[in-house]
Amino acid sequence: MSGTKPSIQYRTTAGLSSIMANANKLEKDIEKTSYQILIIDDNINLLYSTQALVESIGYSCIIADGGEAGINVLNSIPIDIVLLDLSMPEVDGYSVLKYIQKKEFNTDVIVVSGESTFDNATNVFKSGALDFLGKPYKSSQLISTIDNVAYKRGLKLNLKAMQVQLEESERRYRFIVSYSPDIIYMIDHRGFFTFLNDRITDLLGYKPEELIGEHFSSLVHEDDLMIAEHIFNERRTGDRSSQNVEFRLKSSDPEVQSKHFESSSIVIELCSMGVYEESDDGTPYLGTYGVARDISERKKDQEMIHFQAYHDLLTRLPNRELFLDRMHLAISQAERNKAKLAVLFLDMDGFKFINDSLGHVIGDSLLQRVAFRLQETLRDTDTISRIGGDEFNILIPELKNREEAGLVAEKILSAFSHPIILDHHEITISFSIGISVFPDDATSTEELIKNSDMAMYHIKGRGKNGYEFFSDHMQSIYQYRHNIEQDIRKALDNDQFEAYYQPQYDINAQKIIGLEALIRWNHPEKGLITPDEFIPIAEEIGLICEIGRYMLKTGCKQLKTWLDEGIKPLKLSINVSAYQLAESNFDVVLCDLIKKYDIPHHLLMVEITETSLMQDMEQAIPRLKNLVKCGIGICIDDFGVGYSSLSYLQILPIDILKVDRSFLSCITENHEKACIIKAIVAMARELELEVVVEGVETVKQLNYIKNIGCTIVQGFLLGRPLPVNEVSKLLK
Ligand code: C2E
Ligand code: CA
Ligand code: CA
Repeated sequence: MSGTKPSIQYRTTAGLSSIMANANKLEKDIEKTSYQILIIDDNINLLYSTQALVESIGYSCIIADGGEAGINVLNSIPIDIVLLDLSMPEVDGYSVLKYIQKKEFNTDVIVVSGESTFDNATNVFKSGALDFLGKPYKSSQLISTIDNVAYKRGLKLNLKAMQVQLEESERRYRFIVSYSPDIIYMIDHRGFFTFLNDRITDLLGYKPEELIGEHFSSLVHEDDLMIAEHIFNERRTGDRSSQNVEFRLKSSDPEVQSKHFESSSIVIELCSMGVYEESDDGTPYLGTYGVARDISERKKDQEMIHFQAYHDLLTRLPNRELFLDRMHLAISQAERNKAKLAVLFLDMDGFKFINDSLGHVIGDSLLQRVAFRLQETLRDTDTISRIGGDEFNILIPELKNREEAGLVAEKILSAFSHPIILDHHEITISFSIGISVFPDDATSTEELIKNSDMAMYHIKGRGKNGYEFFSDHMQSIYQYRHNIEQDIRKALDNDQFEAYYQPQYDINAQKIIGLEALIRWNHPEKGLITPDEFIPIAEEIGLICEIGRYMLKTGCKQLKTWLDEGIKPLKLSINVSAYQLAESNFDVVLCDLIKKYDIPHHLLMVEITETSLMQDMEQAIPRLKNLVKCGIGICIDDFGVGYSSLSYLQILPIDILKVDRSFLSCITENHEKACIIKAIVAMARELELEVVVEGVETVKQLNYIKNIGCTIVQGFLLGRPLPVNEVSKLLK
């Protein structure tokens, strides 16, 4: 800290004029009768005549004949003024004066004496008398002397009372200032502290003495100096001079660094406050008086509210609002610099599945870890924003060329090529990334985001885990998917789904032994839609479980109807998505349905694809075991295309393996031997599992299957999926 200390003297006469004014007022009010005057003299005649005179002008008056009598009176009642004769026998005037001084009576004495020499008068004053009157005197002289002493006495008494009052009020103000919750300060016209209360110690850790004489710039945070200078250099006085500002003050605690204060200050003429300084240029001495309130807590709350308004609280990443704001800025900058920028739309593949199967807590942690990994991978100048669920937007400002955005996408994909370990789960995630570039693909924020979203959908539809640049033809594909999404929601509400049933044959016994329920969508405009066109989308947008429940219910109800109609009991297989299996109460819901429709448990079969089963074995196994306990059968669908890890076959309570129909394609005229279907059948037999071969379209294929010992077959050759009334006819 630096700066020369100014020399300032304080004069403790503050408020004197107001006391004088008060005293004058009091003087007028003085009731002469309230003054008790005592006349001490050995001359009785003089005593009476003087008493009469004194009383005639309004004072109360008592008399004492001689010094001793006078002392007696002084001891018994308070006397304001004594009119004292000097030469008296025995106890003379000097003795009375001495006695008054010794006893410290609050009494003013006027000495009356015949010997009016200079020496005599001097001695009298030395002995404590207030006035001297030589004998003989005129009545008017006596009156004016008494009045004068009474007046001075009145002043003295009032002054004393004022002083007591002043001390009291000073004590009060000192208390208020020291115990104020705020910092109270005074700064002179050159910016040096001239006063600080003790509060500064609690709030910022400095002693007032350390700072008094220092310049305010040593206390104000560097970034707020402009604000502080503005108010402390203010030269106007009066109303317009008061200012309310916020600034930070430095703390002596290095950990705190600085705190926010709100200061209201007024410019003051310090002379009026009794503060003087020798000023060379003759300018009126001005300073600033202010009160600074610690608003750190309020500031923290405000910052928190601000943060919440512009960030996603889970990942602490910027939210959509802030992202759009940064995009606006980046676009205008790119326009100016004739540069490009890119928006990446990231959608995590299969997040919903992870969230449903591992629970929301892990889902949330995963999002946090993903956010962190994204931040690690990208530059500080890029903005990553979570715009909802598992979707992220990334803004890459200042792009050299289009290809650069592709490199960023590749970097992201490779950053997620190794799994995230969470709560003992090894979670491998991937992203579908859509890219749109300014100004090539669009020039507005909305268009850029929309186009990147479209490109993302495109890669999602084409196998996920990759990136794709926006191109014009995506518009129609996007629109198509978007429409389907809307339509699926409507279809559920309007009962547009229907179950078809495809028979399964025992080729040895030459009869139908089971049915597979397959969903169809009766679209009001597009006609019949097959599941491949909408099931993946339904899974992506989270409607598959609702659709699945519809199929389970319809299947159970239909089975019951057939039983009631007296049709010979048949096994019914219903396809179940991995997302349904991930629902914690899937097994309970299904068992409840069976109970509700009162159907034999063993007639129901659940078909799960090998791939979806692999997604979360840990959760699937106990759930499937519960189903088996209920008597429900389990069939592994599309077997052979997935993991081909066979170990799970032994752990799981499986009844049937359904060989994927792709394996049948090799059964042609030429390549009989190359077919691996034989191996699968042999293995299934080894594990004592039943095998169903689906997708049999030709007689050749049927014969081949027969030859390798498979008996249960499903396919267009023997029967297509049929609506309920047709299949009912077939069963009858
Ligand atoms: P998937 O479970 O493998 O069902 C067999 C598919 O093969 C059915 O197609 C069926 O019509 C078809 N198919 C049967 N025999 C032949 C044949 O000889 N040749 C050929 N080329 N195809 C044959 P679909 O009905 O279009 O269903 C497609 C997929 O949609 C199903 O494959 C299944 O994964 C899914 N799916 C169908 N219904 C549901 C459902 O209710 N829930 C769930 N989650 N998925 C379903
Ligand atoms: Ca199936
Ligand atoms: Ca299948």
